[in-house]
Amino acid sequence: GSQKVDREVKSVCPFCGVGCQVTYKVRDNKIVGVDGRDGPANHDRLCVKGRFGFDYAHHPHRLRLPLIRKPGVPKDPNVQRDSARWQEVFREATWDEALDLAAGRLKDLRDRHGAKSLAGFGSAKGTNEEAYLFQKLVRTGFGSNNVDHCTRLCHASSVAALLEGVGSGAVSNQVSDVGLAELVLVIGSNPTSNHPVAATWMKNAAKAGTKIVLADPRITDIGKHAWRVLQFKPDTDVALLNAMIHTIIEEGLADRAFLEARATNFDALRAGVHAFAPEQMEAVCGIPAARIREVARAFATAKSAMILWGMGISQHVHGTDNARCLIALCSVAGQIGKPGSGLHPLRGQNNVQGASDAGLIPMMLPNYQRVDNAQAHSWFENFWGTSLDAKPGYTVVEIMHKALAPDSDPHKVRGMYVMGENPAMSDPDLNHARDALAALEHLVVQDIFLTETAWLADVVLPATAWPEKTGTVTNTDRIVQLGRKAIDPPGEAKPDLWLIQQLAARFGLPWHYPGEDDGVAAVYEEMRQAMHEAIAGITWDRLQREGSVTYPCLGEDDPGQSIVFTTSFPTSDGRVHLVPAGLVRGDEPPDAEFPLVLITGRLLEHWHTGSMTRRSRVLDAIEPTATATLNGRELRRLGLAAGQRVQLQSRRGELLCEVRRDDGTPDGSVFMPFAFVEAAANLLTNAALDPFGKIPEFKYCAVRLAAL
Ligand code: SF4
Repeated sequence: GSQKVDREVKSVCPFCGVGCQVTYKVRDNKIVGVDGRDGPANHDRLCVKGRFGFDYAHHPHRLRLPLIRKPGVPKDPNVQRDSARWQEVFREATWDEALDLAAGRLKDLRDRHGAKSLAGFGSAKGTNEEAYLFQKLVRTGFGSNNVDHCTRLCHASSVAALLEGVGSGAVSNQVSDVGLAELVLVIGSNPTSNHPVAATWMKNAAKAGTKIVLADPRITDIGKHAWRVLQFKPDTDVALLNAMIHTIIEEGLADRAFLEARATNFDALRAGVHAFAPEQMEAVCGIPAARIREVARAFATAKSAMILWGMGISQHVHGTDNARCLIALCSVAGQIGKPGSGLHPLRGQNNVQGASDAGLIPMMLPNYQRVDNAQAHSWFENFWGTSLDAKPGYTVVEIMHKALAPDSDPHKVRGMYVMGENPAMSDPDLNHARDALAALEHLVVQDIFLTETAWLADVVLPATAWPEKTGTVTNTDRIVQLGRKAIDPPGEAKPDLWLIQQLAARFGLPWHYPGEDDGVAAVYEEMRQAMHEAIAGITWDRLQREGSVTYPCLGEDDPGQSIVFTTSFPTSDGRVHLVPAGLVRGDEPPDAEFPLVLITGRLLEHWHTGSMTRRSRVLDAIEPTATATLNGRELRRLGLAAGQRVQLQSRRGELLCEVRRDDGTPDGSVFMPFAFVEAAANLLTNAALDPFGKIPEFKYCAVRLAAL
């Protein structure tokens, strides 16, 4: 605004994976405004979250002192968010007391029950340096690979398919490439809400003549800009995509030269899609055969065609199969490895790409080196100077199951360290997840608010919000960007990087990261070595100068490769490996008792579990209410009017909320955002997992709805 500011600090938006660059305007140690900067992903643009969602950092609920659970206070899994009553559960403590207790009890559990009795959840909202140090603490201090984060709930299935198919889990082309594409397929994604500035690139491309195809069970805003909208039935992604691949192959539109030179397993793919003629699939997916053929032809014959996808593809028990189909579709059409083409899984959180790259996952060391690969294992044992577990650890949902395992289970999880994640809101089947958190013998939660997860903790460590620290994040485009500290944290709250090192010291780890901001530059430089060639050319000094650099980046004068796979794939034979997918049903189809399909997702104004955006004045004013959305036909059929209060039930839980009308919602379905604690959608969701990516089926479970 027009008010005078003390300083302006260049940083990055803390919310989504688009990675818009911002300038924080600071007065009296408070952020008073945010402007967009001319970053590679945003060119000065910001969405409403980036523009107005900064005041959470100054909210009175911010944690200021370490907290320790009072003796004898039960862990009540019926979560409340009444911060005023924190003193009934916790008492304030000094840092030494809290850290000694946090680490001491974890160590004690490890010594008595073995390394597998501990687990750690890191965060895709922290920096790369925090992610790297966190997984190093779990692997070298706790002693197992039981470390994971919310990528498991987000794109784990996409990454499983991409690593298998093209040898790299990251995007092949950046969002801005949509401007060079003749056709863009947006599937299982609502970019206007979830990647809003990325959506502006798509809308501008459409205006300049690019054909947008929206394929989604929900018709969302981007459909207004689309050349064709394919509203396929929920759970039928593979039917639709295989029918498109079938069309391209059987109509002689496949790129023979590409397939011969650069792909393997094409014969198996062709055999696999043989029975998927559009005429056979139209009744399954609900799209007329002629329309499927038309879109498939346009995709194959376009000079360049690109696919962008989101959680609608990944959050299914067949999420890996869905992504395999996208890889096959790009490959048969030869639409990869050139400008305006390729595969782009739109990343959710601001640093989910970077946290995964840094090794915050149970089966991979930094840079996707498998923990059970002998060469990688010995390289890291040597690099870190300690012995490492060679068995993959448990994933997010598996850790929750292990917390409720019988005492006799040698791998029962008894202690956890959670940094910046909120599984008591984000996990599927929340009644189960909250029971699991409550059952832990020792839970340490490091966060900026008393989140639903922190209410169940034994020790709460008050940490720093994004504008209170310096570090790097990696956006959906593989661009590493530098965020700079703009303000001091409140009270006694401490930087996450300091906290991880304090716990490491109490585990006896001989770490030494000298320098300002808790040694962030030294941590980054160690991570750069651990990631080998990926970010070799992105030194800390270079980031200070340039602010953002794309990887892969081999040397200091390499500008970074914005398009990958131009001549070969990083697979063992340099080729894309095609994997056919068959039809797999969702785990819990609707039936007479629970007749509706629940689809969960996000809203433009609220970010994930709402811990930040529900505490942002403007954002919560725009979307203050938990809603369940149905189309007009369903509302009439159920005798409901928009605005009415209803009860939703699944086999696992129930909640109360308001109904809202949106005719883009498919028949027989209800859509709910998962950001509202007062009507937490994940009370209803199903914890069934995709067998490859171990991602739960957030996009499909059976519910019933009754008017109050
Ligand atoms: Fe922030 Fe994403 Fe919005 Fe950009 S699009 S301002 S990164 S939330």
